[in-house]
Amino acid sequence: MGKVFIVDCALCSGCHNCQVACKDEHCGRAWEPYAAQQPLTGQFWCRVDQKDRGTVPKVRVSYVPKFGAQDETIREFAPEAVQKRDDGLIVLDPEACRGRKDIADAFDGVYWNEELGLCQGCTGCAHLIDDGWDVPHCVDVCATGALRFGEAEDFADEIAAAEQLTPGSHVYYLNLPKRFVAGEVYDEAADEIIEGMKIQLLADDEVVAETESDDFGDFWFDQVEPAAYTVRFCAEGGVREMAADATELDVNVGSIAF
Ligand code: SF4
Ligand code: SF4
Repeated sequence: MGKVFIVDCALCSGCHNCQVACKDEHCGRAWEPYAAQQPLTGQFWCRVDQKDRGTVPKVRVSYVPKFGAQDETIREFAPEAVQKRDDGLIVLDPEACRGRKDIADAFDGVYWNEELGLCQGCTGCAHLIDDGWDVPHCVDVCATGALRFGEAEDFADEIAAAEQLTPGSHVYYLNLPKRFVAGEVYDEAADEIIEGMKIQLLADDEVVAETESDDFGDFWFDQVEPAAYTVRFCAEGGVREMAADATELDVNVGSIAF
């Protein structure tokens, strides 16, 4: 398969260093014959998508770095526009991409450069790889290890456990954000939070996760699949259940009084 990116979203701090590094590498300078220069604005060959999830005070922020042009489907769509390489990197040929707005229209992560009249996107920093770099600039600056790059065979375990955003992508994701169900429990009469209450998450009447309220009375079910759930509170005075539909969005069930 050749070169791949591994992205571990659980390690991504959202610092955007990778996004800036790509600008630093490609804005204002062309790397012929690999890439025409990237415009200062309007294109993000590496784009860190941020998503604010939940409702105050149960909020999580997720980051997903994307490299949309590293997708085998582009080679299938326009083989004449992709340079032939042994390492599998998708490198849109600047000359062959002149006038090819159709490629930019068809793929997220491929951009139309109006001024130069060509489409362009992430090259995997092929100019650096061919110059002896082990990893592209964006991966080199990632301080947390969220980004890795190399031969697919060296990442076999990660790839086996990974997800892709598109089936042909050379970018493999670990810990893509899923859903959370969270809330808080408190003792209304005592005006105190309840610590250590057993709380279960059920799907189709089966317990799929179990936790306890923490020192603040909070409870979290993180990284659960999108689904309609029931939250079961195993309180001293008896069991209580409530619905939590996390099919489309994360759920904060709020402060629950006992
Ligand atoms: S440099 Fe690394 S930690 Fe920072 S946003 Fe990019 S992937 Fe995330
Ligand atoms: S691999 Fe190079 S071209 Fe691709 S996003 Fe990273 S810095 Fe930009």
